[in-house]
Amino acid sequence: MRIYLQGILLILFLASCAVKPPREKGEFRNADLVELIKLDSTLKLDIRYATANNFTGAPVYEEAKAYLQRPAAEAVVKADSVLGTMGYGLLIFDGYRPWSVTKLFWDITPEKEKIFVANPREGSRHNRGCAVDLSLYYLSSGKEVEMPSAYDAALESAYADYQGGTKEERENRDLLIQVMTRFGFQVYEYEWWHFDYKDWQSYRILNIPFSEINADAK
Ligand SMILES: [Zn+2]
Repeated sequence: MRIYLQGILLILFLASCAVKPPREKGEFRNADLVELIKLDSTLKLDIRYATANNFTGAPVYEEAKAYLQRPAAEAVVKADSVLGTMGYGLLIFDGYRPWSVTKLFWDITPEKEKIFVANPREGSRHNRGCAVDLSLYYLSSGKEVEMPSAYDAALESAYADYQGGTKEERENRDLLIQVMTRFGFQVYEYEWWHFDYKDWQSYRILNIPFSEINADAK
């Protein structure tokens, strides 16, 4: 089953690669993608898209890395240091995402769940290096903090204002939202873990694979 699934994903992925991202007119800042853990080694990574543990059932990233445009990355580091004084650290699931991966997600997602994925015609803020998916972990144990839903759950409990679950889960989620908001991020109403950086419109949609980011600097 898994080999079959991976075969289908590979075909869809190759089909996605053949299609080009939308052309955008206007002035944009130069891309300056930085790897988050290079700025702050206390950030914890759980890059699900580099493993089979994601909603596609197969890895779609070749490396378990998270990049953001520099100002957004610096804001994440500031949020992490504030949370650190409260005993929490940030657990990063995803940052910059090449456009071809967004196209793949769209193609394999059923119609009724499409609110959970970005339309490739508009691109995702992840494609601009200005969106981050994250949660909290306890600095004392390294364990993930309880939230109203799992990451990437296509459920109502993923909504940022969901009133179900336990009081503790809602308080944890609200703390994450409160601190991220302080540093220029806005939560996505359907996903408590997804945050857009305020300057996302200044950066264009990118389709650079991780292996080619800062290739000239390597
Ligand atoms: Zn996201």
